[in-house]
Formats: sequence, C-alpha cells, structure tokens
Amino acid sequence: MNADLHCHSAVSDGTLQPEALAARAHANGVELWALTDHDEIGGQRRARDAALALGLPYLNGTEISVTFAGQTVHIVGLGFDVDDAALSAGLAATRGGREARAREMAAGLAQVGIEGAFEGALRYVGNPELISRTHFARHLVDSGVCNDTYEVFRRFLIDGKPGYVPHRWASLGDAVRWITQAGGVAVIAHPGRYKFSANEEYALFTEFKAHGGRGVEVVTGSHGPADFVKYADMALEFDLLASRGSDFHSPGESRTDLGSLPPLPARLTPVWQALEQRVQRA
Ligand code: AMP
Ligand code: MN
Ligand code: MN
Ligand code: MN
Repeated sequence: MNADLHCHSAVSDGTLQPEALAARAHANGVELWALTDHDEIGGQRRARDAALALGLPYLNGTEISVTFAGQTVHIVGLGFDVDDAALSAGLAATRGGREARAREMAAGLAQVGIEGAFEGALRYVGNPELISRTHFARHLVDSGVCNDTYEVFRRFLIDGKPGYVPHRWASLGDAVRWITQAGGVAVIAHPGRYKFSANEEYALFTEFKAHGGRGVEVVTGSHGPADFVKYADMALEFDLLASRGSDFHSPGESRTDLGSLPPLPARLTPVWQALEQRVQRA
C-alpha cells in the first residue's frame, strides 16, 4: 500500500496548507495519509476533512521534538485522539520555548553580520508558535545569503554554527506517553539522521520500547538505500512496526514528494496494520 505517514503543512514548517497537501497526496497515488506537523495538531481536522472528501483514508499525526542524549530526536505519533487533553498540553509546552530560541538564533546571526533575521523569518511563519529553523532558512535564501536551504543549515543552523541555539525539547518518555495514552502509536522518525554512536542509538531504541514506543520509520525521504536495510534490521531486532513517510515540506525544497518512496521491505510489519481501527474513512 502507498502509505505516506509523515509530512508538514504551513501549520508548522511546510509551505502548503493542509487541503493542498491532501490534494497532492491523492494526486500522487497515496492510499493512506497522515499530516505530521511539528509539535502541533492544529491542522488535523482540516487535513482529515480534505482527505476524506477525496476518499483518501486518514490517520491523525504529529511529530514531537525530543531531547535525548544531548541531541534532538523526532517522535512521530499516529492514530491518536485529537481531543486528548494531555497530548494537547504536552505539545503546547513543547512549542512554548520556540520564540525565545528564535530570538537567540537571530542574535547569533547578527554577530556574523546578518541583521534582522528574527523579523525576516517571521514573515515565512504560518503559525507564530511554530517558528523553526526552516523559516530562518527560507528567509536567508530569499534574501540572497545562501543559494538553498541545505546551504543555510550547513553554514548557519547546525550545531557549532552561528545561528544554532541548543534547546531542551520534550523528554522521550513524555512524548511516547502523550501519544500512547491518547490511543496512538509512537514511531522513531528518520533514525538515520541522528549523529549517535552505536551505543547511544541502541539506548534510544531500548528506552523508546521501554516507554511503550512501537514503531520506527524505515523508508523515509531522509534515508538512503543503506539506511532502508539497516533500519529494517533494527525494526526486526527490536520487534518494531515499520513506517513509511516522505517528510515532504515544500514543492521547491523537498527532495522527496508525497507518495513517491519505495515500498517497505516485505519482511517487515507495516505500522498501519496495528492502526486499522484508527484509520478514518469517508
Ligand atoms: P527546528 O524544529 O526549529 O529545530 O527545525 C527543524 C527542521 O529543520 C526540520 O524539521 C527540518 O524541516 C529542517 N532541517 C533540519 N536539519 C536540516 C538540514 N540539515 N537541511 C535542511 N533542513 C533541515
Ligand atoms: Mn521540518
Ligand atoms: Mn523530523
Ligand atoms: Mn518531519
């Protein structure tokens, strides 16, 4: 099945509205879809309504920012109840520090001669609570400082660079519990992107399972073919369900479009098998 269970709208750091994403997913042949905005579920009803109007089955989704072993890790939640109060409160708390962090990022950029980056980034923000590095990246491209967003991250926004500000996000246990206690399934997002040692990665998977986490993204726009094999093995080793998602953000920026990824390796159990009861259909 062409499931795409990871993407972003303008409610977080994507550029398309939830309705436009639903239309794009449908046009690209997606058969089960989830919008997974960062730390936010404000776009869920719009995404679901638009999907169901197209006959596209829908799972509620989000992507929670977590700090683990000194790094940022993303945990995708799928199939939860959008009315769950503890999940909403947890996401609001996770979003809470973003404005202060963004002002610090702008101060760091000002020190290398890039003035006004906070106000600049804000012009690209659809949801003021969700100002992210992506919005700074778009501003620095459009103002001519860099040629593309990848260059902005490389030169300015990753650890050790002038616009990088360390930030404490949610804990792994809290994020997994918010999702799970709201009836959803927690999934480790794009594990191939983290810069963990083998021991730290093992600890991430072990602790994630101990908190009740059940899935891992194996096929994502952030993984290459070697990662597909490595994380398929990890899914089997840790008895995790496998997920698949493009992580699509924007037509001009994203390398992987909605619905365009290779299938999950056949030896894995897809996460949507465990979410059958949570899928919303017209
Ligand atoms: P934030 O949550 O503000 O730290 O922003 C993280 C977002 O920046 C991610 O969700 C991606 O959309 C984007 N991002 C992170 N690292 C990179 C990178 N190296 N190149 C391009 N985009 C990135
Ligand atoms: Mn993003
Ligand atoms: Mn992510
Ligand atoms: Mn994402």
